[in-house]
Amino acid sequence: MSGVERAFLNALDGLAYVTDGEGVVLRVGEPRWDEFATAAAAERALASAVVGRSVFDAMAGEEVRDAYRRIHRRVLDEPSGHFGFEYRCDAPEVGRRMRMSISRVSGPGRRVRLLYQSQVLSAVSRPWMSLFEPQRIVEWARAEAAVPLVRMCGFCQRLAWPPDEGGWVSSESYYRLGGPADVRVSHGVCPTCTHKI
Ligand SMILES: [Zn+2]
Repeated sequence: MSGVERAFLNALDGLAYVTDGEGVVLRVGEPRWDEFATAAAAERALASAVVGRSVFDAMAGEEVRDAYRRIHRRVLDEPSGHFGFEYRCDAPEVGRRMRMSISRVSGPGRRVRLLYQSQVLSAVSRPWMSLFEPQRIVEWARAEAAVPLVRMCGFCQRLAWPPDEGGWVSSESYYRLGGPADVRVSHGVCPTCTHKI
């Protein structure tokens, strides 16, 4: 990658990275990426540690990985060479609306590259919800194997609730409907998001 390409990548807003056709990260927009990793206290996620790894390996849940693999393949194969969508990425005290765009770009020797860019569209503070604290969920799971399992959509973050009724609700509705806070979360993709993808 040339110096000019590197400068463009570093200048992009949000988290930006370039992968090869197989989804292996070749380079990331370093300043934003390292800001994000530092804020998340995730040293393993620093730009230097991400290069050379598959983007799919970092994703939680087989359905989410499958969905991204399909999108990746589609951007590689389709004439438009571009796909964009919105998704939710929530932290314990903030609900974020994000936009992901994936674009095909040509690299050296006409090798195909994909540019991934995710940007925060809006971030809203909200009451603390233990449901989104992975460490506590892990502790619960260890302490009590009988803790109920709730499925969460990795794209819109809605929850499959009540169980076995086929409905997907927001976290706010989940609590209103009496959903327990002490649960284990498994990631999936809801039918609405599967259809959109
Ligand atoms: Zn969804």
